[in-house]
Amino acid sequence: MFTIGSHLSVAKGYYAMGKDALKMEGNTFQFFTRNPRGGSAKPIEEEDALKLKKLMEEHHFGPILAHAPYTLNICSQKEEVREFAEMIFSDDLERLKNLPCHLLVFHPGSHMGQGVETGIELISSFLNRTLKEDHPVTVLLETMSGKGSEVGSRLEELREIIDRVEQKEKMGVCLDTCHVYSAGYDIKNHLDEVIHEFDEVIGLSYLKAIHLNDSLTPFSSRKDRHAPIGEGSLGLKTFIKIINHPLLKELPFFLETPHELEGHREEIRLLQKHRKE
Ligand code: FE
Ligand code: FE
Ligand code: ZN
Repeated sequence: MFTIGSHLSVAKGYYAMGKDALKMEGNTFQFFTRNPRGGSAKPIEEEDALKLKKLMEEHHFGPILAHAPYTLNICSQKEEVREFAEMIFSDDLERLKNLPCHLLVFHPGSHMGQGVETGIELISSFLNRTLKEDHPVTVLLETMSGKGSEVGSRLEELREIIDRVEQKEKMGVCLDTCHVYSAGYDIKNHLDEVIHEFDEVIGLSYLKAIHLNDSLTPFSSRKDRHAPIGEGSLGLKTFIKIINHPLLKELPFFLETPHELEGHREEIRLLQKHRKE
């Protein structure tokens, strides 16, 4: 099954996002667990969540993906910033129990000059405090572009975090095509090699989702600027290879391209047209 959708706004509620996904002719979606800047969270209404669950079943949705606010920094040098991130993250994990959503992706964070090693230690110890055995959610580390002092632009760094987490079965990775290309993994010309490297370093069993974004900036630029599919340095051909790759094709794909509903519908149509079942 080809599982594809885009990032949607939670403003109108959860069932409304399911409806929007259908309007876009998709069968999944991603959403921020709250205001992306980390503000207050609307409580999840039971009725809304149930309606979404029913809609997802009726329309054979693939797994949907929650995204933690990108402003949280779990490996900040400031204790109050780390504590705030931990509080929001734990609260989001708890709130997800009320939704038909079992995947939560987050940005590992920026070490702010403390060094990658300290960053990795702060992230993994945070995960060891936060992940609970009885919790149904798998937490995904996102591959980052490496701008500033971001942790997680090298596959080895993600591996190192997972290595230090006790509850490994609760861990996964979300590969962002724009970010990995900006970080120096050439998925345009050497997709097979990159997938092989991912398998060697982390293990493909950890790969749970893909963010499909073209990149406004060139290969290895360490920038994080998303472009519409086919309009950036990766190009449409790269995405056709990715969505049809035997080792990737069953994963859920999420567009985070700079588009509104209409534009995302066009992108979804374009990719569906190029998908070989
Ligand atoms: Fe992200
Ligand atoms: Fe992303
Ligand atoms: Zn990005």
